[in-house]
Amino acid sequence: MNDIVKAPTDFQQAYVFDMDGTIYLGDHLLPGAKRLIEELRRRGIPVRFLSNNPTKDPQQYVEKLEKLGLPTDISDISNTVVTTTNWIKENHPDAKVFAIAEEPLKNSLRQAGIALSEDPEEIDIVVSSYDRGFDYRKLQIAFDAIWFHKRAFLVQTNPDRFCPFPGGRGEPDCAAMTAAIEACTGTTCQVNFGKPSPVMLTAALAGLDVDVAHCVMVGDRLATDIQMALDTGMGSACVLTGEATADDISSLDDAHRPTWVLDRIDRLIPASAWAELGWTENDD
Ligand SMILES: [Mg+2]
Repeated sequence: MNDIVKAPTDFQQAYVFDMDGTIYLGDHLLPGAKRLIEELRRRGIPVRFLSNNPTKDPQQYVEKLEKLGLPTDISDISNTVVTTTNWIKENHPDAKVFAIAEEPLKNSLRQAGIALSEDPEEIDIVVSSYDRGFDYRKLQIAFDAIWFHKRAFLVQTNPDRFCPFPGGRGEPDCAAMTAAIEACTGTTCQVNFGKPSPVMLTAALAGLDVDVAHCVMVGDRLATDIQMALDTGMGSACVLTGEATADDISSLDDAHRPTWVLDRIDRLIPASAWAELGWTENDD
């Protein structure tokens, strides 16, 4: 075991998991993920899943987790499609929204009764997101709505610079679209609906009667997963199976360090319980 690894010695009240790089990478569950989730559920401990990715809706995550052997209720999953839609519905229900987004987010906004528009003269809110159909036409609409007509403000689904893929590759994520709009308009994005925003944490723990200080956010990204936990007084566990490396964590000062660092995700089950369950590192 790497000496940076530090695992919890007790069970927590609820477990909130990032998905990509934490539970799975690409189309494969990471070692220990299945037995970990099954053991937490067997003990009746709430398990929730979060994603900053707005290109899928929660139903698509239900299908993905099911295919990977982890059947999950849709109510246990939240992502930026949900948090973005809920925030606009609660705070600006009558706004005309220009969504620089793929279909899942646009559908969700429409279903919530939000009016979508591509007419810069009437747009109130420009939503920047991870949109693989982003182009100059969309940038011009955002520019006209914000800079020329001076009526719209800018929000974003998530602050990620890129979305990691297996094999070390990746795709430009929402931060690239937001930066393009900020660069030409001189505006600043006003709200972020993804981790590390506390709106994500509220969505994750909705309906649970738990003490945040005794819950844990588990993820692979220091700037989003771990930062959200630090900002909200929640425990945090950084897995070394995705973006963050042992060197990244070693170089952090104490204020930015996760509570726990895990070489494999099933170390969330305390070592004493591993012994009772007869678990070893050779099986997952
Ligand atoms: Mg991740």
